[in-house]
Order: sequence, then structure tokens, then C-alpha cells
Amino acid sequence: TLEFTDRVTRVEPSATLAISALATELEAEGKDVVDLSVGEPDFPTPENVIEAGQDAMDAGHTGYTTSAGILELRESIADKLADDGLDYGPENIIVTPGAKQALYEIVQALIGDGDEVALLDPAWVSYEAMVKMAGGDLARVDLSAHDFQLEPALDDLAAAVSDDTELLIVNSPSNPTGAVYSDAALEGVRDLAVEHDITVISDEIYKEITYGVEPTSLGTLEGMADRTITVNGFSKAYSMTGWRLGYFAGPEELIDQAGKLHSHSVSSAVNFVQHAGLEALENTDETVVEMTEAFEQRRDLVVELLEDEGVDVAVPEGAFYMMLPVDQDDQAWCEGAIEDAHVATVPGSAFGTPGYARISYAASEERLREGIGRLVAEGYL
Ligand code: PLP
Repeated sequence: TLEFTDRVTRVEPSATLAISALATELEAEGKDVVDLSVGEPDFPTPENVIEAGQDAMDAGHTGYTTSAGILELRESIADKLADDGLDYGPENIIVTPGAKQALYEIVQALIGDGDEVALLDPAWVSYEAMVKMAGGDLARVDLSAHDFQLEPALDDLAAAVSDDTELLIVNSPSNPTGAVYSDAALEGVRDLAVEHDITVISDEIYKEITYGVEPTSLGTLEGMADRTITVNGFSKAYSMTGWRLGYFAGPEELIDQAGKLHSHSVSSAVNFVQHAGLEALENTDETVVEMTEAFEQRRDLVVELLEDEGVDVAVPEGAFYMMLPVDQDDQAWCEGAIEDAHVATVPGSAFGTPGYARISYAASEERLREGIGRLVAEGYL
């Protein structure tokens, strides 16, 4: 028999992927599932990016690259981060197969047995798993009583962290809530991070997808440059989830240490994918704007349809998710919704916040209407 480590047995499989699998199963049985559980844009990857990937393959960019990623891409990432007000050079950046791998490497490099990591709940499902796999302990701060905003919960955050806290993970715009944290909230984070000498991961993977607000990068705040690790990726802004491309930027000593994990595990991100990523960063601004406008219209539509049913939600300012309050066990609600209405959503408890279901509105207006309509018809709204 196989004997498994605590490292793996203490974590659960990804809840979002499990729901997607269930939706796929029902579809295979011929059911028409409205899948509002997915964490990916429903748009194709921009044509120029696909061509750049194909051209790179044709040009023979099919071998290993430098472990940290091709220099042109790291330079382009540094320029993008400079536009966000962040001061990183190519030597501060590691290109990874997805932001998920970036986060995994950072957590593995910084967190060991008994180290404390603070999360703002609801939090993206994999943070908890990554921390647990590293042997760390969680300090969780619940934002649900404050419409998922951080500013009114700063006292709770102050109570949750201490000199024992090694790491805090901030994700704005947030998956699953769509909240964009205010500058005052981020300044509050900064004050606590400085006071208790806490390193902060700023997961900015939804930064490009916002509606009328401009999220501040945490690393731009005074006192934060050396204690912030900025994570971003190509999956969401450029609709490149399956390409697997992301990155992190931080102090060189982190790059040295995490770089060892990187080189001994993935070696590098895929060569021609890095070339496609370069094209995405350099020449795709308009497509990002178009996709974001579509998401904003869909957000407005869903908020309106829910309001018509008397359901108030915290209106998201970014990303493409919102939290729907359900007045019963959220796991049972989500299971019922997929079985009876064939509408897939993700239970809030997967994100540390029971009593909600996460809706992804990265779906066509027609499918969103259909999904909400079915939830109403089956008595779920
Ligand atoms: N961070 C957040 C908050 C996410 O929602 C996701 C994807 O769902 C990721 C990171 C990882 O994205 P990827 O590995 O596709 O770059």
C-alpha cells in the first residue's frame, strides 16, 4: 500500500475544479448545464497572441529557456509593473507556468511548519491548501460582514496578526468577491505589515479587469517595496488560462531562494508560451478593454436580475465573480442548484465563507439570463 505524507493528506482537492467536473459529467449525460462556476473568461485568446505563439514555435522556440524566463519577457513585465508604479528589474522576476505556480513557490520558500499566514476571507481556494501543504497555520479575517471590504475590517485584521505572522495574502480585485480594496485599506495593511514585520503577497491577477476604479498596487506604498511580492499572470486579462503563464516579482533574495524551487521543479515556463505572453503584454490593450467592458455589462445584468428577485449583493468592482447570499447551507444549495436547475456555482465555504455561493459571470448574457431564470424557477432565488 502507498503511504502518503501529511503534506498531501491534510489538504482537500480544489472545490472549484470539483464542481466543474460535476458540470462536465452532467453535460456528458446530455444535460444543458449553465456553468457559472468557472474561473476563466469565456473569450478566445486574442488572435495576435495565438499567432505569436505559433510563430514562436515555427521559429524554433521549443527548447528550454533560462529558468526565470526569457529576458525580453521579464523586461516587458518590468515595464508593465513600472506602469503600475512598481520598481522591479528583470532580476526581480520569475516567469512561471501560471500565477498558481508563482504563489506555490513563494509559499514554499517562505513558510515552514508552524509559520503563520493571514488570509482575508473569503479567499481564493488554493491559498489555504498551499499554506497547509507548506505546514503553515492560518489566521483568517472574515470580511463578509462588511460587504467584503477591507477598510472597515482593519481592526479585525489588527487583532488577527502579530509578530508571529510571517505572511499576509492580499488579493484585490478579489476572487471570489470582486471587491477592490481602497487605498485607506491598503495603507492599513501597510501599517500592520511594518509594525509586525510581515511579508505581503499582493495577488494582482485581476488588476486589469475593473469597472471604473483603478486598484493601487500594494508595493507602491511607502515602506512596502521590500516586503511586497507582486503576483500576476496572463490567464484572466488575456484569456490565456490554458497556456499557463504567470509571474512573481520581489526582492532578489526571494528570487534566489524561490528560484531554486522553480528550477528544480518546473525548470521554466514553456518557451513559445513566453513569446506569446510577450505579445499579450505589448500589443493587446484594446482587447483587454473590450473584454472588461463586456464583463461590466454582464455584472450590471446579473445585479439587476438578482435585484428583481429581491436579492441584494455586494456589487463587484473588479474580476468576474460575485457572492450570492443563500439563506441555507451553501454546500446543499450549490448541490441542489446543479442537480435541479443544472446551474453550477461554487459554495462559499470553499472560500472560507459559508452562507454564500460564488457566481462567475464570465458567460454570455443569454446564458446568465437562462441560469438566473432557472434558479428562480426551481426556487433557489
Ligand atoms: N490567483 C487568483 C486569485 C485566482 O483566481 C487564480 C485563478 O483562478 C490564480 C491566482 C491562478 O491563475 P493562473 O495559475 O491560471 O495564472
